[in-house]
Amino acid sequence: MKKYFFGAVVLLAAALLFLRHRENWKRHELSFFAMDTPVTLTAYGPAAPRGLRDAEDAVRKIERELSVTMPTSAVARLNTGETLPAASAAGRAITAALELCAETDGAFDPTLYPALRAWGFTTGEYRVPSRDELTELLKQCGVRHLRREGGSLRLEAGAMIDLGGLGKGLASDVAAQALKDAGVESAVLNLGGNVRTLGARPGGGRWRIGVRAPEGDLLGVIETDEGAVVTSGNYERFFERDGVRYWHILDPQTGEPARSRVVSVTVCGPNGERCDALSTAYFVMGPQKAAAFWKERGSESFVMLTDNGDLLACEDLAGRFTVDKERKNAKVTVIRR
Ligand code: AMP
Ligand code: MG
Repeated sequence: MKKYFFGAVVLLAAALLFLRHRENWKRHELSFFAMDTPVTLTAYGPAAPRGLRDAEDAVRKIERELSVTMPTSAVARLNTGETLPAASAAGRAITAALELCAETDGAFDPTLYPALRAWGFTTGEYRVPSRDELTELLKQCGVRHLRREGGSLRLEAGAMIDLGGLGKGLASDVAAQALKDAGVESAVLNLGGNVRTLGARPGGGRWRIGVRAPEGDLLGVIETDEGAVVTSGNYERFFERDGVRYWHILDPQTGEPARSRVVSVTVCGPNGERCDALSTAYFVMGPQKAAAFWKERGSESFVMLTDNGDLLACEDLAGRFTVDKERKNAKVTVIRR
């Protein structure tokens, strides 16, 4: 009798442990549209429902600060001549963007909005500006037009800031922090190709992040611990005129879509904001310059797809990246330090 009783207690304890484990790793998902892109936040465990609500609030708050098209945002007001406290959230994002501009020798440039707007990339009213028009507009671009006066930032007339190149990455960091603050230990966030993970995969082990290919299928899978996996691609936003494709990542030298032989570049690192800015910068640099930059500066690693279908992967990422089986014939070149 005693033996049966003991067995029942063990069974009950095991069942309780199992239920608790299931509750700890229960999956919760929240999808919405923000920052001009579909957002899907997935979090695990009992703190997830509250954490996801906080994370959505955090994303929307950042959007209200940084959006270049919302007339009331801090960035839009700066763009119409108002001053902005340098210590505000938008002020700090602009300072980070300026540092990334200097770090990437101007490949990442947050002052290209006058040119970007002429192409219609933020409104969807696409057109091809003439070379003369772009040359004129480029005079209003450049970090020299941003003034720091005491604790404030101000733009010269005609100059405009656009943080579209790092905003989603920054939002992913802020959302991850909101989830952490709510007690969530495991989450994966996707803001239109900007993926950010928190903690380890439920049950342990690395996250497996699918990287999209231009045709909408899979390019491959990247395994990652907590951190960011951010992709910039010329298929994300583009239009065609007379058989020519024009996309949303501009070469700051010309104000025209960067024709650097890159189709897409995926960057991995601990910080979403940096990975986002660097994905845009590596795209502008192209394969040779990006590889040289990575070797010289030891910056965040990348996997790059070039316009002839070849792949380029930094050595410390090569072992964590698996090319999709449909592309097994693609040539993969490993960049070594
Ligand atoms: P991403 O998709 O992260 O590469 O960012 C592209 C967005 O960044 C564009 O929609 C523009 O808002 C902005 N952008 C375009 N070209 C550049 C550039 N060279 N440097 C910084 N931001 C850029
Ligand atoms: Mg970017």
